[in-house]
Amino acid sequence: TGELSENFQTRGVRVVVRCRPLLAHERDHEQQCMTLDKESKSVTLQSKNIDERMRHFFFDEVLDEGCSQQEAFARVQMGPMVESVLAGYHATVFCYGQTGSGKTHTMEGFTYRASRGAASPKAQLDTDPEQLGLIARSISLLFESIKRKKKAEPHVTVNVKCSMVQIYKEQVYDLLNPTLMDPSSTPFSTTSFGRPLARPPQQVLKVRWNRRREFYLENVFEFQCATADEAIDHFRFGVNNKTMASHKMNMASSRSHSLFTVIVETAPASAPEDAIVSKLCLVDLAGYERSAQSGSTSGQLQQESIFINKSLFTLRKVITSLADPHYRGMHVPYRDSKLTCLLKHSLGGNSLTLMIACLAPSDAYWEDNLSTLEYASKTK
Ligand code: ADP
Ligand code: MG
Repeated sequence: TGELSENFQTRGVRVVVRCRPLLAHERDHEQQCMTLDKESKSVTLQSKNIDERMRHFFFDEVLDEGCSQQEAFARVQMGPMVESVLAGYHATVFCYGQTGSGKTHTMEGFTYRASRGAASPKAQLDTDPEQLGLIARSISLLFESIKRKKKAEPHVTVNVKCSMVQIYKEQVYDLLNPTLMDPSSTPFSTTSFGRPLARPPQQVLKVRWNRRREFYLENVFEFQCATADEAIDHFRFGVNNKTMASHKMNMASSRSHSLFTVIVETAPASAPEDAIVSKLCLVDLAGYERSAQSGSTSGQLQQESIFINKSLFTLRKVITSLADPHYRGMHVPYRDSKLTCLLKHSLGGNSLTLMIACLAPSDAYWEDNLSTLEYASKTK
């Protein structure tokens, strides 16, 4: 539609940069190594050595440290994306950046009250509504839009389902699998959060392919949601499960990709078989860690890094192949990673893609910021 093409390129990616503030413990001894300019939508990375030049990067939008969650939601243009999903288009949002740059804050916005950072089964999810991230805000907006659509078009039915998975070392885990929870708990009420798991959530989902559905996850839990609250409850359950899963698998949840998918089926009430199915995928990508910096050469970390780098590399390759005007007939390497297999629907054709590159402004992360800025500008 006209409205769509005005706001988005229908091929290619919108790239937005978000820089978080210096955190309390960084403020005393660390310097800001970059400046953002809202006018020119650019980021300037200070030079590290005197004889080096400053570097400038330009984006579709830049969000500085003062940007609230609500403002971020508006300025990345989630509104038009959610509307377009309801209009039958696929849309995907990625948060990219080093660990600690604000990806999870941007997507989830929950903070862990009990034991921040630690993967403790006791972790409680804080729910300051001001701090809610893109996922919960998108869900709320989607259901508002559905209400409006149903009023305007009473003969249309709209079904919403959601799923949530985690990809760790190229294995896909279902974060909404209710049987993984303590059977005595009610899986979807807030009271179940923090309960220990009955079994470790290591049930690996298989990625299957067939001609009709292309890539899909066999037996993934997809929950029908009648209201925004219901969908947010599932999401919350998944977030909580992710923390516990990390604990059981002895890994930091930041080392895995998490995908929250909202599936919207729109059909004329008289012909439910004519449903148009569209998906909104919201992806919190694994943080890459430069092994030099993390200082660890442990087998597990190295192995994790190899998987993470490979999937991030494949993701960029897929996105840039699709953005290439001559891409028809080109080989698009979806199969090279689970992430790109699962996002195949949402990356090609006339779907909307938004990449949010997250930056931590301290000069301690100069190299990471450079690499994030380069990745993000190459993705455009
Ligand atoms: P990542 O998911 O990229 O590893 P997090 O989202 O966990 O990073 O953020 C790291 C820390 O920085 C957290 O304590 C988080 O609360 C804080 N933080 C991130 N972004 C912001 C922001 N825009 N404003 C305030 N605090 C932030
Ligand atoms: Mg994170």
